[in-house]
Amino acid sequence: MKIYNTLSRQKEEFKPLEGNEVRIYSCGPTVYNYAHIGNLRTYIFMDTLRRVLRLNGYKLKHVMNITDVGHLVSDADEGEDKMAKAAKAQQKTPEEIAEYYTNVFFDDIKSLNIETPEIVVKATEHIRSMIEFVVSLVEKGYAYETSDGIYFDIEKFPEYGKLSRINLEDQMAGARVSVNDEKRHPADFAVWKKAPKEHIMQWASPWGMGYPGWHIECSAMARDYLGDEFDIHTGGVDHIPIHHENEIAQSEALTGKETVKYWMHAEFLLVDGGKMSKSLGNTYTIKDLKERGYEPLAYRYFCLNGHYRNKLNFTFDALTAASKALDRLYDALMQHKEGQDDVSDELIKDFEKDFLDAVNDDLNIPQALGVVWKALRNSEKSRKIYDFVIKTDNVLGLDMENQVIKREEAQKNAKSKVSEEVHELIRVRAEAKKNKDYARADAIRDQLKEMGIKIIDTPEGTKIVD
Ligand code: AMP
Ligand code: ZN
Repeated sequence: MKIYNTLSRQKEEFKPLEGNEVRIYSCGPTVYNYAHIGNLRTYIFMDTLRRVLRLNGYKLKHVMNITDVGHLVSDADEGEDKMAKAAKAQQKTPEEIAEYYTNVFFDDIKSLNIETPEIVVKATEHIRSMIEFVVSLVEKGYAYETSDGIYFDIEKFPEYGKLSRINLEDQMAGARVSVNDEKRHPADFAVWKKAPKEHIMQWASPWGMGYPGWHIECSAMARDYLGDEFDIHTGGVDHIPIHHENEIAQSEALTGKETVKYWMHAEFLLVDGGKMSKSLGNTYTIKDLKERGYEPLAYRYFCLNGHYRNKLNFTFDALTAASKALDRLYDALMQHKEGQDDVSDELIKDFEKDFLDAVNDDLNIPQALGVVWKALRNSEKSRKIYDFVIKTDNVLGLDMENQVIKREEAQKNAKSKVSEEVHELIRVRAEAKKNKDYARADAIRDQLKEMGIKIIDTPEGTKIVD
């Protein structure tokens, strides 16, 4: 199995650090608002990675965090805490805001068939390890105190910038004049912030009351659950230059080890060719899609048609097309389920091999979907093809088995509804004949004919001709 490592900018053969278990950390949502479909694309990627690893026989130990404190409005160390800001605007406590949006997030991912990672952790429940982390960084000389917090001294970590390949000199030259002139370098970042009295979320620390920086949260929680070194770290591409660069600096400064072996990042979702933004009103949520009559799985299918490392452009036309294609996929699958034709085992083996080759080539799901469609388009309709495609759904997550059953039931119900209607018409016609209302009886006979039902009258009563 090959995956693309942002750190080396190459596809690399995947090999777990220890045995058969893969340890993964994924940056989770900041729960101050609804997740938009762009965020959800990144979690669909995360889910696909899980499923492909499992297909390859690996066991997963996967941690995802819930950011419920410390993510400031700007990804640098400026502006209000997103949670505090939302709490103020909605006149709720940050805990209430976090609980509400966390629940909606899990409903959303469930509707998209995204599996919940084995371990889900909240930042506010790990403040102690974050403080310990910061204390160690200060002790080792990697962090220093200013009047408003504790900052990481990036010049003490010569490898700073290795993930995004930014050059510190250039960054320094291009940096805005720092608002905080106590910082030693403009790109030094806060690992702990001292809280002004009125700050809504604060904890006791060796530096007085305060709250953690967003970046330290992921470093501390990843270490708590996965240790000093783990296999894969995921997130969106926007995290590469600041958040993940800072995670690397903190963690590697602390442990002296390479924390993450493979860094994987999902490209952005665009809407109508551009950025999603509140002001354009195009930060769509799952609720928005449902209100417009789309099934969440149609959105999943739409996402699977683009490779995770390419930008994907969302339009409602494209979503409509995806929704129709997914319907056709379920219908085609239903035909194979009932199919009587035989196909060779070699054909199925070829499909299986092509599918595996595609997903193991850095999760090439668009190509894997091509294999599924090739199988479904096979002119012989065969249960073997049905079984093959159903197995691919362990990776694709399109709920195929259930959706086919639902369709079968709907068809059955439609048939039995017709038959109820037919019997009622035959009964009404018999009554009309008894009342010598032959015009009505003939009209009903014609109506039945239009429905494709032929009847004959026999001495034992009216019968349907097959
Ligand atoms: P946040 O809740 O803001 O921390 O973001 C959650 C995840 O969504 C992060 O991994 C981001 O990198 C990712 N993300 C944000 N915007 C987009 C977008 N337009 N397309 C894809 N992923 C995104
Ligand atoms: Zn993170």
